[in-house]
Amino acid sequence: MAGSVQQTDVAIIGAGPVGLFAVFECGMLGLKCHVLDALGAPGGQCSALYPEKPIYDIPGHPTIAAADLIAKLEEQAAPFAPVYHLGQEVEALQRIPGGFRLATARGTAIETKAVIIAAGVGAFGPNRPPLDAIERYEGKSVFYLVSRREAFRDQRVVIAGGGDSAVDWAISLAEVAARVMVVHRRAKFRAAPESAARLDALAKAGRIDMVIPYQLSGLEGDNGQLSAVVVADLDGKTKKLAADVLLPFFGLSMNLGPIAQWGLALDHHHITVAPATCMTSAEGIFAIGDIATYPGKLKLILSGFAEAALAAHAIYPLVHPGEALHFEYSTTKGVPGKV
Ligand SMILES: Cc1cc2nc3c(=O)[nH]c(=O)nc-3n(C[C@H](O)[C@H](O)[C@H](O)COP(=O)(O)OP(=O)(O)OC[C@H]3O[C@@H](n4cnc5c(N)ncnc54)[C@H](O)[C@@H]3O)c2cc1C
Repeated sequence: MAGSVQQTDVAIIGAGPVGLFAVFECGMLGLKCHVLDALGAPGGQCSALYPEKPIYDIPGHPTIAAADLIAKLEEQAAPFAPVYHLGQEVEALQRIPGGFRLATARGTAIETKAVIIAAGVGAFGPNRPPLDAIERYEGKSVFYLVSRREAFRDQRVVIAGGGDSAVDWAISLAEVAARVMVVHRRAKFRAAPESAARLDALAKAGRIDMVIPYQLSGLEGDNGQLSAVVVADLDGKTKKLAADVLLPFFGLSMNLGPIAQWGLALDHHHITVAPATCMTSAEGIFAIGDIATYPGKLKLILSGFAEAALAAHAIYPLVHPGEALHFEYSTTKGVPGKV
């Protein structure tokens, strides 16, 4: 609904796992939420970067695929009828009498009594390798994330990078791809030791080709379809790897975007919060999940979930001044509105 001003108790910026769970926590306290996200679908990093990967440290789920976790969080939030505004970056946040006014890039305006910023790493995007005309191949044969491993069945895949994503996807795609080649500048990988050992074993077994020490140098192909990836060694000597797909995994660029201009106390691209409430330096504005920092912060989904509960309880008296909030277990009160 672009154009009109909408009213709510809480505006949640970011529909990642933590923003979605904040809808539930606020809902349990009777607080109505609008949720805004720059991406076209909910789920944040889980949906955009690793939907098929299993997560092992969500309490109560010995293993759950990232996309399934997001589907469950949406289901858990649904009884509270959150209003989603997807594909809309929040550009402006200003204080007005009694609360705040948010404006998105697409002209949606929301007036709210409190704000929860659950914006993860901000407007995130992959670090792109500086290769000539790479944009012609992006989305056709160069991908910065794997949303469906099957898409690479019987393909010749070049993976570039030395971190967890490069190593994990090399191991996983070795099961379906015709060939997997890993390009890295040095022999050591910045990955979990067990994964690095597994990569090494697959390379020794001839299931993965290690292209080391090399770095990406150029792309060859037609109409966006790669035919070869050119790599160069440390002396600049090049060679061609016949390939159908390139997956560069050089991490995420963190860009707080407009959030950096909102006058909140920051610490190295993160928003500083009071650990007991997750309130930022501005009264009424809270930050939770990856974007929030305090001493001892662990950037884990489970920490974000707990922060969502803290923020919701701290917001209640702002929305209902003078009303006592009686702490209740969900087993006692059930889920209001759920049949
Ligand atoms: C490959 C990989 C594996 C991982 N594995 C695990 C794991 O096993 N266990 C674990 O606990 N964690 C894991 N993580 C980390 C986990 O994904 C993050 O901790 C989690 O996604 C943080 O959730 P969030 O909701 O705070 O932020 P995000 O998931 O980053 O979502 C933030 C959302 O905010 C939106 N946004 C940002 N700025 C704006 C704006 N101005 N306007 C509108 N929207 C905005 C973004 O578009 C995004 O959708 C992993 C991460 C990666 C990359």
